[in-house]
Amino acid sequence: MGRQRIAILGSTGSIGEQTLDVIRHNRELFEATVLTANGSWRKLAQQALEFEPDAVVIASKNHYADLKEALSGTLVKVYAGEDAILQVVRGDGVDTVVNALVGYAGLGPTVSALDAGKKVALANKESLVVAGDIVMRKAMERRLPIVPIDSEHSAIFQCLAGEVSPYDKIILTASGGPFRNTPMEELASVSVESALNHPNWKMGNKITIDSATMLNKGFEVIEAHHLFGAPLSKIEVLIHPQSIVHSMVEFADGAIKAQLGTPDMRLPIQYALTYPHRFPLPEVSRRFNFMECGELTFLPVDMRRYPCLELAFEALRRGGNTACVLNGANEVAVASFLNGRIAFTDIAKVLEKCLAEATFVSSPSLDDLAQSNSESRELALKHIG
Ligand code: MG
Repeated sequence: MGRQRIAILGSTGSIGEQTLDVIRHNRELFEATVLTANGSWRKLAQQALEFEPDAVVIASKNHYADLKEALSGTLVKVYAGEDAILQVVRGDGVDTVVNALVGYAGLGPTVSALDAGKKVALANKESLVVAGDIVMRKAMERRLPIVPIDSEHSAIFQCLAGEVSPYDKIILTASGGPFRNTPMEELASVSVESALNHPNWKMGNKITIDSATMLNKGFEVIEAHHLFGAPLSKIEVLIHPQSIVHSMVEFADGAIKAQLGTPDMRLPIQYALTYPHRFPLPEVSRRFNFMECGELTFLPVDMRRYPCLELAFEALRRGGNTACVLNGANEVAVASFLNGRIAFTDIAKVLEKCLAEATFVSSPSLDDLAQSNSESRELALKHIG
């Protein structure tokens, strides 16, 4: 069997770089054949020189000339624009698409990859949050695996591997983010820097803020609902500040399986690529040690502290395009918080208003979802002022 040929969408981001690190240490198993970036053309050029893919895509077209120039004299094909991403994932030289794009922008490439019969290793949870019914139906019809890279879902996926009986409950763990112990009255005035200071995981800015509001966990509940066919009543969220137990599954007999490890995304990335097999991880990733870990603790979620989590539950209950609206409004609200335009606690307020006002569509098509995404962004901008 030849090497697995991998397209990495978002190769210059946190997950993308860690995926390249997995490939770097397993050259006999994997080959990066397509790399894409949003605007970081210098880093993309550097990666292309090291990994020699067939093609690279820079989403923002005004960096095309720079990138083309940087890769002149190589055999790497250079493309620009979001449409080019939809094209390259369909190519003959791609077996697996690692979708590490941020936000709604990840949906189109997921759909395009599935339509072209590619295996999808999914770090872009928005593909499922926004269009879980459509995406899972496509995967099912074509018998294509969607293997999660999100650490919690990878944990659940690993716990379910080999089981033939249905589970009773999925237990998603959450660190609680940087403000788990911040007095409630101080949340309105927390700084961007403190919100970006996640206790356990080093991630991109957008998802780090989503972790602080716990909307990220809410999205993960929706993601789990679609990936594992779980109703909301069978999904529980538990605070686990150490981020060592990545999630758990409880079965009919009361047995609970958990997947543990140090917080290192290279494990779920590599597992998604090699599933159902396991391979050694590079030595640089430190292994979990029970003798050194101290206490592992578990706490209930204080829902008053995390209103965004309740909004995500509500989105799942309402169904239709509601989660798409929540996501679109959140992308705008988080960007506004990062720019210093709104307070941390305003994020939930903006989302609540958008959910109340957006047009409801009970069974949305991809076009309807595109419309809902635009509408929710406009609503959010209106409320931010
Ligand atoms: Mg996660």
